[in-house]
Amino acid sequence: MEWINVTGKVGYFKGSVNIGYARISDKTGLIFDAGLDDQTMKKVIKQLESLGAPITHLFISHAHADHYGGAAHLQKKYDVYTYAPVFEEAILRNPMLEPLYLFHGTYPMNEWRNKFIEGKPIRVDEVVSLEGDRVLQIDEIPLQVLSLPGHSYNQYGIIFDGILFASDSYFSVETLEKHNIPFIVNGEATLATLHKLLAIECAGAFPGHGEYEENFKKIVQANIQFHEKILEEITDIIFGNNNKEGMTLDSLVGNACKNRKIEIKSVTSFMLFRTAITAYVTKLILKGRVELIVKDNQLFVSPLA
Ligand SMILES: [Zn+2]
Repeated sequence: MEWINVTGKVGYFKGSVNIGYARISDKTGLIFDAGLDDQTMKKVIKQLESLGAPITHLFISHAHADHYGGAAHLQKKYDVYTYAPVFEEAILRNPMLEPLYLFHGTYPMNEWRNKFIEGKPIRVDEVVSLEGDRVLQIDEIPLQVLSLPGHSYNQYGIIFDGILFASDSYFSVETLEKHNIPFIVNGEATLATLHKLLAIECAGAFPGHGEYEENFKKIVQANIQFHEKILEEITDIIFGNNNKEGMTLDSLVGNACKNRKIEIKSVTSFMLFRTAITAYVTKLILKGRVELIVKDNQLFVSPLA
């Protein structure tokens, strides 16, 4: 993984999932997110050691395995004081909660559990809870913490030395196009977070997937348009052919994916898309456009206005 130095105090290891680093003081350094697995974390530790960078703290932005899967290894090698957002922290301590929620509470079969949705459990030393955004003190040096929900239930980002560690609050355009329907759990919060990012004052930002940019707000804007387009398509599918009945949630998932030429290849992947599409539907419910009803013992998304 390539080390990208941004300000001297802040940089990140560029990979399919970026890992941030903040040199808080000569003796204190914080790793932001931990990558997918031990292998990734080993490379990061090796490079930080060769840079002579202190490793004392860890901040996990949200409980997705590609962001915390390497944390158990880091905790084994270094006694890192670990922060995590409230709620996400429960999943970090009990990682089976992710496959459990994706499969609607059914105890997940072994073949549904893999390192992409379930990492090793970690210790959380301090649960961070925000009422409004707040400042965390490490060695009396302030670190701003931001609430960035939508992609996950309670994702947090940080700002240090003027740089926003944005995690998955926005994606690079390439990442959006790759996933085509990005994973979200709350359509309303996803868009509110993106609008919040547009108003943030900082010198630049790097996302969990993508590159550091000073002008990151143009990418945030592209994210907003991307989500709005998906919402429009989903609305058209539900309202299509003067279909007053609407359609089952499962056929909406099938049609929305087909519309974007997505071919779902595994049961786990289906559950991820189903969660994301249902999250867009909840936004339409809040707007009063559709409702979720039960008909013939099936879950229907029905048009309203
Ligand atoms: Zn994520």
